[in-house]
Amino acid sequence: MLKMFIESLKNLVSEPETIKYPFAPSPEPKGYRGTIHYNEELCIFCDKCENICPPGAIKFVVVDYETGKKEYNYNPYLCIYCGACVRECPKAEEGCLVQVETRTPPLGRSVPKGKELGYFINRIEDPKEVESKWREIEELNIKTKEEYKAYKKAKRAQKAAAKAKSEE
Ligand code: SF4
Ligand code: SF4
Repeated sequence: MLKMFIESLKNLVSEPETIKYPFAPSPEPKGYRGTIHYNEELCIFCDKCENICPPGAIKFVVVDYETGKKEYNYNPYLCIYCGACVRECPKAEEGCLVQVETRTPPLGRSVPKGKELGYFINRIEDPKEVESKWREIEELNIKTKEEYKAYKKAKRAQKAAAKAKSEE
C-alpha cells in the first residue's frame, strides 16, 4: 500500500510519458539513423562515401587540381539514411563522417545550415532551388573529375618526359 502511494506521488510530480503530437514534434528514438555530418579537416578525399551512396546524395567537386582539394556536397533531401557512407569512410572513427540521431526536417520555407552539412546546402538561399542546383553539382562532379584525371595524366607524362631527357 505504501509502495503504491509513493508511486502515485512520484507520478504526480514527474514529466508525462506522452508527447503533445501533433502540436509538438515527435522525438527520434535513441540510436535513430539520421542526417550525415561531415568534418572537412579530417577528410582525405578518397571518394569512398560518394561511390557507395545508393541514391547519389554525396558529390565531390574538385576545386584545386594542383592539390586535389575537393568540396563535399551532401543533399539531405536525397539521403535515405542507410549509413553506408559512414561504414565505408576510412576516417569515420575519427569523426570525419558521423550519422547523427536527428533527421533533416522536410523541405519547407528554409533549408538547414551548418558547416557539418557541407557546401551544397549552405549555398542554397531559396528551397525551390534545391533540385536545379543539385543537378548543377552533379554536372560539376563529372566535369571536374574528368578534368582532374586529365590533369594528372598530363603531369605524369610531363614527369616521364623530363626523366627521359635527364637520362639522355
Ligand atoms: S546515409 Fe546512405 S544515402 Fe545518406 S549519404 Fe550516406 S550512403 Fe548516401
Ligand atoms: S569516405 Fe570519408 S575520408 Fe573518404 S572522401 Fe568520404 S568523408 Fe572523406
